[in-house]
Amino acid sequence: MARTPFIAGNWKMHKTVQEAEDYIQGLLPRVYSADGVDVAICVPFTALQAMVDSTRGSRVEVFAQNMHEADHGAFTGEVAAPMLTEIDVHGVVLGHSERRQYFNETDKALSYKVLAALDAGLKPILCVGETEEERERGDTERKLRHQVQEGLERLSSDQIAAVTVAYEPIWAIGTGKVATPEQAQDAIAFIRALINDKAPDGAPLSRILYGGSVSPDGAPELLALPDVDGALVGGASLEPESFARIVDAAVQVAAA
Ligand code: PEP
Repeated sequence: MARTPFIAGNWKMHKTVQEAEDYIQGLLPRVYSADGVDVAICVPFTALQAMVDSTRGSRVEVFAQNMHEADHGAFTGEVAAPMLTEIDVHGVVLGHSERRQYFNETDKALSYKVLAALDAGLKPILCVGETEEERERGDTERKLRHQVQEGLERLSSDQIAAVTVAYEPIWAIGTGKVATPEQAQDAIAFIRALINDKAPDGAPLSRILYGGSVSPDGAPELLALPDVDGALVGGASLEPESFARIVDAAVQVAAA
């Protein structure tokens, strides 16, 4: 079963609404003909409404970078899934390593967030990945097993197939150090096997992305790997031109 390649740009805490508007005017014409590839930008809460309005009718979907697992409640500073769907946000990044590291996001909370996102009709991207020390200790698979199994634990097989998983080795995020093709393929094939254990019908449909210092020059080799279904791109998504070049690499791989 062919999976549609998916390129998502994670802006992190960058861009005011005005900067986001300038960006999207630069991006839309560049990805207009990116047939066969799904494209998303993951933007700060304050720019969501403007980006939803500016991308309507285009191929670019708009994702949030986090959400709370409850529908509403006394959680000052948080945003709930129905608040995102009310303004037509398409999806949400969950468990990015920066949220796990700086905001104590746990696998247990993430298991509820993934479920709440799906229940609300949002497309979740669940991020997983090991630290450099864990890789050096030979603990990469143990870490991934824990994160994937806990993160997906509350989902049915059908729901699992609707989750995109992003494998992001923490040592590769924002460092310029990219996983080798072999490291990326091995980790992502391992994640697919884990998903297969939980959802044998869903695993062939599940999209698994690579993230970690993806650049326009490095993207073609990574995107051509058999189990890699796309990329979650941080730094290189901040300029329309470099992000569009990565989308274009996915178009070329899909057409090959
Ligand atoms: C990310 O933010 O998820 C990421 C992978 O960042 P970068 O591409 O800058 O390493």
